[in-house]
Amino acid sequence: MTIAIIAHDGKKAEMVAFIKDHAPLFQQKNIDLIATGTTGSHLERAGLEVKRMESGPMGGDAQIASRLVEGKVDMVIFFRDPLGKHPHEVDVNMLMRLCDVHNIPLATNQAAAMRFVKTL
Ligand code: PGA
Repeated sequence: MTIAIIAHDGKKAEMVAFIKDHAPLFQQKNIDLIATGTTGSHLERAGLEVKRMESGPMGGDAQIASRLVEGKVDMVIFFRDPLGKHPHEVDVNMLMRLCDVHNIPLATNQAAAMRFVKTL
């Protein structure tokens, strides 16, 4: 299965800590990770293998959305920062909408992500 991982800047540290805590699950052979650009480089530094898209503001969320529409993404973990302003808000909304359109599980905070990883 393919899991998309995205974190807004204000949530990147939390995301890295979360991923490190659950690294053995994310490193399972049957799991492929894709991520927006900067999130992806953080994941790589944490020792995970990940396919990196463009940075979010440059279209990375849109690339993930496109793959999702093609049936190539099975789960999205998106550590959103609800207190920040983001230039690519429309892309983020599009991605979340398409998760609903295609019935793809979407975790937008750590508590939800915690429950999601229990299914891996
Ligand atoms: P980034 O993008 O990983 O390239 O920072 C994340 C986002 O959509 O804000």
